[in-house]
Amino acid sequence: MLFGPPGAGKGTQAIYISSRTGKPQVSTGDMLRAAVASGSELGAEAKGYMEAGLLVPDEVIIGLISERLQEPDAVSGLLLDGYPRTIAQAEALAEVEKVSAVISIEVPDEAIVERIVGRRMDPETGGIYHIKFNPPPAELSERVVQRKDDNEDTVRNRLSAYHEQTAPLADWYEQRGVLVRIDGNRPIEEVGSAIWAALANHRWNQDD
Ligand code: AMP
Repeated sequence: MLFGPPGAGKGTQAIYISSRTGKPQVSTGDMLRAAVASGSELGAEAKGYMEAGLLVPDEVIIGLISERLQEPDAVSGLLLDGYPRTIAQAEALAEVEKVSAVISIEVPDEAIVERIVGRRMDPETGGIYHIKFNPPPAELSERVVQRKDDNEDTVRNRLSAYHEQTAPLADWYEQRGVLVRIDGNRPIEEVGSAIWAALANHRWNQDD
């Protein structure tokens, strides 16, 4: 599982880990954005929370993810990105999956706003860029978009939601012996190498 504040680099690192391990990346944020775009009932329910920078209610998320976890590609391990975000979600997950490693990507609040406001996404591939730190190639410059919730006002709410509702999960997982802390306040490649090294040294359970 990848854990950390909005803009920590979870999505960017998830793409990299997923391509190296072959485990599917499961992002509740991506699933919710797809639901909003499809105009489904669930999407309509989630949209207001997302645009305000608030967490979508637990029962909506737990229902959404439980279906995804039963799909064939998820049965032999997966990489969670942005889920769980509350203790209630972590408890629901513990009932159906064994969490073997939680990578906490740590980035101070001051760095988050600049990262999020400059972030751009490629809607076709899900690729993530930053206008200053990781600019999209010239041929994609017309195609990349800014997420609706990647603005300065919303990011402050997202950070508050993170500190109040999500950050306590780090202790929760630390007590269960699976938390690995990674300094995320450095170049993308260095964070990726640190995660890879930490996973290689991680004390995996025998049946992982
Ligand atoms: P993300 O792409 O992970 O930054 O998620 C974007 C938005 O989707 C968040 O700000 C929340 O509104 C919502 N969201 C994504 N995952 C969750 C979750 N596990 N629990 C509650 N809300 C979520």
